[in-house]
Amino acid sequence: MDKMKQFGYLMQRKLAQFFNGRNGIDSLGWTCNLVALVLLIINLFANSPVIYILWVALFGYSVFRAYSRNISKRYAENQKFLSMTEGIRRRIRLLKLQWRDRSVSRYYICKSCHQQIRVPKGKGRIEIRCPKCGERFIRKT
Ligand SMILES: [Zn+2]
Repeated sequence: MDKMKQFGYLMQRKLAQFFNGRNGIDSLGWTCNLVALVLLIINLFANSPVIYILWVALFGYSVFRAYSRNISKRYAENQKFLSMTEGIRRRIRLLKLQWRDRSVSRYYICKSCHQQIRVPKGKGRIEIRCPKCGERFIRKT
């Protein structure tokens, strides 16, 4: 094992020990951190006390959640957060897929059942039939 790997392993173990019995950073925690970071960057330019207070609150909240020993309550919060943001997260996943396959495919969401439909690109105007509910709609691919 080389030095970097050894160091990484050690850090990982230290971190695991550190968060042992604590909630650690879950999806809600990562989102809070990310938003806090964005606020911090915005405030480098805006220099607004309101943004600063928001940043402190968000960052404090995410630290509180990471250190919390009430894991079941934090878990419930995280689950609630995940279900509340399900629509947005699905949309982001779709955008990622669309970007990855941008040269060969297009993705559509069925209006009646929200099924994701993949269609080859460059077929012109075609009628698309949803494989799940049978809804038909016309799109340019
Ligand atoms: Zn459908």
